[in-house]
Amino acid sequence: MSRPAKAIINLEALRQNYLLAKEISEGKVIAIVKADAYSHGATVCAQALADIADAFAVACIEEALELREAGISQPIILLEGFFDAAELQLIDQYQLDTVVHHEGQIQAIAKARLAQPLRVWLKMDTGMSRVGFLPGQYHDVWQQLKALPQVSDIVLMSHLACADEPDISHTMQQLETFEEYTLGLPGEKSIANSAGLIAFPNARAQWSRPGLMLYGVSPFPESHTIEQRLTPVMELHSAIISIKNISPGSTVGYGSTWIAERPTRLGIVAMGYADGYPRHAKNGTPVLVNGQRVPLVGRVSMDMLAVDLTELNETSIGDDVILWGAQLPISEIARYADTIPYQLLCNLNRVPIEYLPAKATQPELQETEPDS
Ligand SMILES: *Cc1c(COP(=O)(O)O)cnc(C)c1O
Repeated sequence: MSRPAKAIINLEALRQNYLLAKEISEGKVIAIVKADAYSHGATVCAQALADIADAFAVACIEEALELREAGISQPIILLEGFFDAAELQLIDQYQLDTVVHHEGQIQAIAKARLAQPLRVWLKMDTGMSRVGFLPGQYHDVWQQLKALPQVSDIVLMSHLACADEPDISHTMQQLETFEEYTLGLPGEKSIANSAGLIAFPNARAQWSRPGLMLYGVSPFPESHTIEQRLTPVMELHSAIISIKNISPGSTVGYGSTWIAERPTRLGIVAMGYADGYPRHAKNGTPVLVNGQRVPLVGRVSMDMLAVDLTELNETSIGDDVILWGAQLPISEIARYADTIPYQLLCNLNRVPIEYLPAKATQPELQETEPDS
């Protein structure tokens, strides 16, 4: 038997979440699969979406080439653009789209010899102060790009800093700035991440760019009705590998930060921060053992963590443990660990991934008679 820690990825849920994004957007939807699809496995996820996705986006060329090599033929957008002029040859060869967010990139494109003109996503910094041209420069750089034979279409693009927050003022300001400084420029637009897509109808535009919601996780820190329509794609599993009864006064884990106040039945789970479970999860963070909530006790160690099983009737070694998933929202775990679900997903490490196939990618199965 091998170590029981694993992530189960439900590809049907991924498809349903994508279709929900599509329904909300009423436009084209780019599936964001950067960072190995938020640790869900970029190639398998892209393949599971290949017959329905309008486009994919990643953070760098290595991630894009992986998708092309897996047979993905949709547009693939490099969200940070290219870092080096040499990448333009691969961008050309593999027919990738690139974000353009600084002058040097325009000069590199102007000097490049490309087999076919390139579609660029021209980024405006409307108030995130990360990458993008300032609004006042935008018309100029658009003209520069438009004049280049190496450039075909220019998509007008920006990114929202606060779309997940209840206070809408910063987002409204960003949307106004974008509107004002793209006035008169032809071309499609792209603004919304998951939160923008769900919460701001006027951010939807022709192309939206949801990431987190595709994985079935709400982008909002506060509770939101979208949660009822999203299906978590990842379930992080392990099992109880040791059970012992400890007496009052016994301490648990590194630093002895938890002390038993009563006779306690303690369970040890094969899951630690080397797997991506957050080390900062507090005492009391919920863990599901045989489907029932029990509290995490003591510090999470590299390969193991402890839970208090005293309130459960029967437990034994090998019992199923769920760290997050459909029955235990990752957002809740993130709150206990003072972080966000994005980081918990991206930190996933070491655990093998098991895929539950999507129904619609196996049309031959749909044709068989249903069992009664
Ligand atoms: C990561 C990313 C997204 C997706 O954001 P979510 O909050 O996961 O929906 C969209 N646009 C850009 C530019 C990104 O870098």
